[in-house]
Amino acid sequence: MRRVVLAPLAAAALICLDPGHGTPPAIGAQTEPIGPGSHVTKIKDGGGTAGEAAVNLAIAKRTRTLLLHAGYRVAMTRTGPTFRYGNGGNIARAQFCNVRHAALMLRLHADGAVNPRAHGISTLYPAFRRGWTDDIYAQSLRAARLVQRSLVRATGAADLGLVPRSDLTGFNWANVPAILVEAGFLTNPTERVRLESSAYQERVARGLVAGVEAYVRPGRRLMRSAVRRPSSWTRLRRSSTSGAGSARSTGVSAASNSSRSSTIVRDSASLRRSSSARGSSRGSGGPSTTGALRRVTTSR
Ligand SMILES: [Zn+2]
Repeated sequence: MRRVVLAPLAAAALICLDPGHGTPPAIGAQTEPIGPGSHVTKIKDGGGTAGEAAVNLAIAKRTRTLLLHAGYRVAMTRTGPTFRYGNGGNIARAQFCNVRHAALMLRLHADGAVNPRAHGISTLYPAFRRGWTDDIYAQSLRAARLVQRSLVRATGAADLGLVPRSDLTGFNWANVPAILVEAGFLTNPTERVRLESSAYQERVARGLVAGVEAYVRPGRRLMRSAVRRPSSWTRLRRSSTSGAGSARSTGVSAASNSSRSSTIVRDSASLRRSSSARGSSRGSGGPSTTGALRRVTTSR
């Protein structure tokens, strides 16, 4: 029955935009494991470079407008100054995109450096790690290449290339292809002026959308995977109820900004329970269990 409900709604690829930062400081200081089953923890959000949260959001909103015009569905992890989904960390950002079966998680940031002359654009992608990113590695790298190329072309900014990252919580918990764009250096006076101008933000947004269009057509990719998936979803939901997952996430604010996907959101509430169970499965499950779970939840 699930497939009957999903198919007509999931006709267009969904791009999950994740404007970085905006976490309330008390929550940002909390720690979380950098990957499923990991004993390494990191803070949820250090706040980023001064002024970054607002720049990230401005670029995200322009990107959303262009993507919608191009025929994509779009969900944003935040549409205002504050990020509030789930428990407010990077695991929550990944899960926000996972439960929507995004064709791409596009994380938007701006850089900072001690050297004020540092400038240019780079794109981060998940380093390969079995059980964590093996299922999203190839597509993430492909997306990173295409988006970085389009961004440099659209902005004329210096090309700082691609950077594999093994330590980013938001990558390691993602079950959908994920990349993170550093759109320029706010610590460089010239680049800061540009990044805070609407004209340049629009150029960045155009570059992002051109990259997304090269990566995935807005067409019916998700519909096919949704139709093929019901049996594994049933298995997943059954197994998840045995986990000690304590999802405090409500997803209320998140659901409201995902266009045309209210039914999907309701459906994914059951999946969210299972994804958070991965975090608490260290004692019982371990890496192999979480790896299997990840593969099941992957929407490619
Ligand atoms: Zn940042």
